[in-house]
Amino acid sequence: MDEQALLERVHTQVANLIGQGAVASYIPALARVDPNQFAFALRRIDGTEAGVGCVDNAFSIQSMSKVFSLSLALQLLGESLWERIGREPSGDPFNSLVQLEHEHGKPRNPFINAGAIAVADRLVSHCADAKQQILEFVSGLLDEPVHYDLEVAASEAAHGSRNAATAHFMRSFGKLDNPVEVVLDVYFHQCALALSCRQMARATAFLCDAGVNPLNGERVLSERQCRRVNALMLTCGTYDVAGEFAFMIGLPCKSGVGGGIIASVPKQMSLCVWSPALGPSGNSMAGTKALELFAAEAGVSVF
Ligand code: GLU
Repeated sequence: MDEQALLERVHTQVANLIGQGAVASYIPALARVDPNQFAFALRRIDGTEAGVGCVDNAFSIQSMSKVFSLSLALQLLGESLWERIGREPSGDPFNSLVQLEHEHGKPRNPFINAGAIAVADRLVSHCADAKQQILEFVSGLLDEPVHYDLEVAASEAAHGSRNAATAHFMRSFGKLDNPVEVVLDVYFHQCALALSCRQMARATAFLCDAGVNPLNGERVLSERQCRRVNALMLTCGTYDVAGEFAFMIGLPCKSGVGGGIIASVPKQMSLCVWSPALGPSGNSMAGTKALELFAAEAGVSVF
C-alpha cells in the first residue's frame, strides 16, 4: 500500500471540511488557534512514516494525553488502578458530574475528565514529581524532549471551574487522596502537552506493537495491558460518539478538544490526524472524516 499517496488523496477529499465547525472556546488559549490547519501522520511498526499537511506543527494534545497518563499509571500501579476507575462508556458528556453522584465518586472510565483526574491523583501519590514523570514518560516514548505549553495550562487553570468541581466532588467521596489543587495542576499540564502529529504517531507506536515501543525496543505495557488500553480507546475514546467511531472507522481512537485524534491499527501502524475545528460531538470534523476515508480505503479495521 502506498500510504503517502493515500494520505494525499484523503487530504484533497477533506479540503472542504477543514475549518468547518468551531475551535474549543472554553479554554481561551485554544480559542486563538487558526482553525484552517490540517495534518495527518502515520507510522508503521517497521518504522516507515508518511504524512500530509503541517505534520510538524505542535498543537495542544488535550485529552489524547489521557492515553499517556493511563499507560504510565498502569506501568506504576498495575491492576490496583481499577479500584478507583471503571471501564464503561459513560454516555454522558466528558465533563459531566451527574453520574459521579449516583456512582459515589467513582468515574466510569479513565478517558472522561473525572477518570483522568482520578488517574492524575494516583500519579501524584506514586511519583515524587508527577508532572516531571509524565514529561519524561512521553519524552521516552519519542526519544526526544517534549514540553508543556504553559500558557495553555494557565488558561485552563483560570477557566477550569468544571474540572475543579469534579475533583472536589470526588474528594468529598474519598476518591481522591491528594489536594484538589495539586491533582488539577498535574491534569492541566498533561492536557497542555504540545506535540505535532508526527510526534504523536511516534509516541503512540507502542499501542499497535503489543505494548513495545518499536522506536527503541522498550516495553511500555504488557501485551494484555496494551490490548486493554486499545479496548478503552475503542469504547470510550471519542466522547459520546465512540459507537459511531467504531461503526464508521473501526479503530481504537482517542480525541482531544485541541482537534487531534490518534488511532491505532494493531500490529500495523499508529495514526494521528489534527484539524482544530470541532463538530458537535467535540471531535475534529475534518479529522474524523479523514480517518474514516483512510480506514475505508486502506481496508484497516479491528473487526
Ligand atoms: N483539558 C480539557 C478539559 O479538561 C480536556 C478536554 C478534552 O480534550 O476532552 O476540559
